[in-house]
Amino acid sequence: MKKIIALMLALLMVGAVLAACGGTQTTDATADSAKTTLTMATNAYFPPYEYYEGEKIVGIDAEVAQAIADKLGMELKIVDIEFDSIITGVQTGKYDMGMAGMTVTDERKESVDFSDSYATGIQSVIVPENSPIASVDDILAEGATYKVGVQLSTTGDIYISDDLGDAAAERVTQFQTGNDAVAALVAGKVDAVVIDNEPAKSYVAANEGLKILDTEYVVEDYAICFAKDNTELKDKVNGALKVLIEDGTVKGIVDKYITAE
Ligand code: GLN
Repeated sequence: MKKIIALMLALLMVGAVLAACGGTQTTDATADSAKTTLTMATNAYFPPYEYYEGEKIVGIDAEVAQAIADKLGMELKIVDIEFDSIITGVQTGKYDMGMAGMTVTDERKESVDFSDSYATGIQSVIVPENSPIASVDDILAEGATYKVGVQLSTTGDIYISDDLGDAAAERVTQFQTGNDAVAALVAGKVDAVVIDNEPAKSYVAANEGLKILDTEYVVEDYAICFAKDNTELKDKVNGALKVLIEDGTVKGIVDKYITAE
């Protein structure tokens, strides 16, 4: 009898230990899901991907990032910095990720890793309505002197500067934001602006007397960038993104901001 009681006691103790372990695990799980912050660096002058509505940064990237953070049980914090500083900030770990209508390029891949692509971008050219410029070729033509405005370090800057070669120094003006580049176009300080198509549409809608040329300069993929050693976060974000693409969430967000022509 004593033996049986001892055995039962022993079993109870094992049970208690197991329960305690279970308890600890639950506590750990709760701690894991306690909201950690996901810091996203962007440049909030890139409608409809990111722009201010009052004090708040809204847009396709802001909403897709929010949906990703919700899926991962994280709290999203968006930080607005210069586009040119996003990659360095992500590389040094100051920000967890960069999301800014950012095009995947081989050169950037040397500094950061990219998520799967969530959108397509097109480099477009904005000119005044009465401009003699009809295509990118007119800008690049032998003897042409047209001045071009771009946003510093964007692919628009990289492509047109490459294509103009030696003439770029004198003919390309790099602005901190797309807004500034378009303001220079409106003021007649540059003859054209090379910029992504969706912001181009927003800028043309917001400023009288501008039009977008009917040519696609370059077609590109947008993705989120991460520090090279942060594969854990990249994999988690890719996992969330996959679900959000498959269940139509990403398309719903894109459609909300981009009205089909
Ligand atoms: N898609 C362009 C790039 O990645 C522009 C992005 C931006 O200006 N936010 O360079």
